[in-house]
Amino acid sequence: MSETKRMPAIFIGHGSPENAFEETEWSEAWQRIATRFPKPEAILVISAHWTNRISDDAITTSVTTSPHPETIHDFYGFPKRFYNFSYPAPGDPALAETVRSLIRTVDVRSDAERGLDHGAWSVLSRMYPEADIPVIQLSIDEDLPCKDLFEIGTELADLRDRGVLILGSGNIVHNLRTIVWDGDPYPWATGFDDFVRDALVAKDYQVLINFEKHPHAHVAHPTVDHFLPLLFVIGASQGEDPIFFCEQIFAASLSMRCVVYGLDNEKKTGR
Ligand code: ZN
Repeated sequence: MSETKRMPAIFIGHGSPENAFEETEWSEAWQRIATRFPKPEAILVISAHWTNRISDDAITTSVTTSPHPETIHDFYGFPKRFYNFSYPAPGDPALAETVRSLIRTVDVRSDAERGLDHGAWSVLSRMYPEADIPVIQLSIDEDLPCKDLFEIGTELADLRDRGVLILGSGNIVHNLRTIVWDGDPYPWATGFDDFVRDALVAKDYQVLINFEKHPHAHVAHPTVDHFLPLLFVIGASQGEDPIFFCEQIFAASLSMRCVVYGLDNEKKTGR
């Protein structure tokens, strides 16, 4: 049997679904980063675009179990070809069962209907265009304390030693109401992005778990969905040093910052 390679844990700032279709500096960087570590045996995605709340159901953390997850086109106002796109990666029901057994912080429900949202496929279609690696998604319960989301990440960390890439997809600054397409970054956007970068470098996970106390948190995240995947990723980081790429603010109020843990022979970079 071949030796299973340890996989990174990675957070991707996904931005617009256009990154799946256009050659952008972000999508090119996503392609490049995938060449820097061995091909995963499977991928577990935690996406900003799959959140649940306690008001929806009693058990609000779900994992996809479909062997053939459909491509969900969960966005509005884009060209028709965006809606015709399919990312036909297989699912992995056995891995989903493993995820359910590893997570002790909450009960996890199987969801055989749910497919892959654009937070997952817009990134994966660039990193792995062949769509030949099984993908499952874990939902985010927005009503759980942030420390529990971090804790779930720690419970999933062992998957990295089983050849599973843990991928969080969101944005470290995400305010769509304040976007200026060719605008300079707002000071609050840069300030919040710097705050997160510094906390990641310092491994100050408590300050990230309490990110809503930051004075710019509510303008950086009018809704918290795009921040929360980061908490799972740092939970799965096992205390490793972060490596950053795509360290830019796009359209004045979208941080495209990505962070990866577990790449060999890399130097940390700053802005
Ligand atoms: Zn998004």
